[in-house]
Amino acid sequence: MRLEVVRDRAGRGIATGGTVEGRRMRRYRFMQGLRAGGLPARARFRRLSGPMFYTHGWVHVIAGCMFCGKTDEMLRLLRRFSIAGRRVILVKPRLDTRTDRVTVTSRSGAQHQAVTVDDSSEIEAAVIEADIVAIEEGQFFDDRLPSVVERLAELGKQVVVTGLDRDFRGVPFGTMPRLLALADQVTKLTAICMVCGEPATRTQRLIDGAPAGADSPLIVIGGMGDETYEARCRLHHEVPGLASS
Ligand SMILES: [Zn+2]
Repeated sequence: MRLEVVRDRAGRGIATGGTVEGRRMRRYRFMQGLRAGGLPARARFRRLSGPMFYTHGWVHVIAGCMFCGKTDEMLRLLRRFSIAGRRVILVKPRLDTRTDRVTVTSRSGAQHQAVTVDDSSEIEAAVIEADIVAIEEGQFFDDRLPSVVERLAELGKQVVVTGLDRDFRGVPFGTMPRLLALADQVTKLTAICMVCGEPATRTQRLIDGAPAGADSPLIVIGGMGDETYEARCRLHHEVPGLASS
């Protein structure tokens, strides 16, 4: 069987000719090589010996309504970074707690230690040692958070921010719209509507079981009576008194 090798200017060659099966197999191997980054075979199977990925800054925003699994997804990513030997620091807004260190727990039970800060100006000092900076509840931070996140990424850090993309009225929440726009990567998660079982993208606030009005406060700390939340779809999300824009 005679094979003809076609070469490009860089001298890379792919053989043509031979049987159809043979051509398919060579093309498959060629594409596999490209997918692996076109590295020589020896380099492809190098053992992990130091940071091998994410050496540039990167901003990943994980957004969605309540109960969509944002914290679970973030903790999953942090676990991977930890296995890769990266230093991870998780930051969350202090809100009603007075302690400096807390544990973030997802609804499925996953946990990670977190540092609490009063506002976004305290984040940079808190994460100097980190390769990976995780920020929880981005919607509760002040409007300087996007520029803090940009500076951290410029320093080469990987920044993962979670947050509610909409408030209980369905309106874009705080600084999250800007964060979503400047992110290098966005993961938008959905929950399940508690009325119809379809994918849910909104957070329904209920007070004594009835939909909360548009004039109820944006952020409730410490609760106001019998206040609960549900994930709802667009159709079943109710906000009495909200002017539709
Ligand atoms: Zn629904």
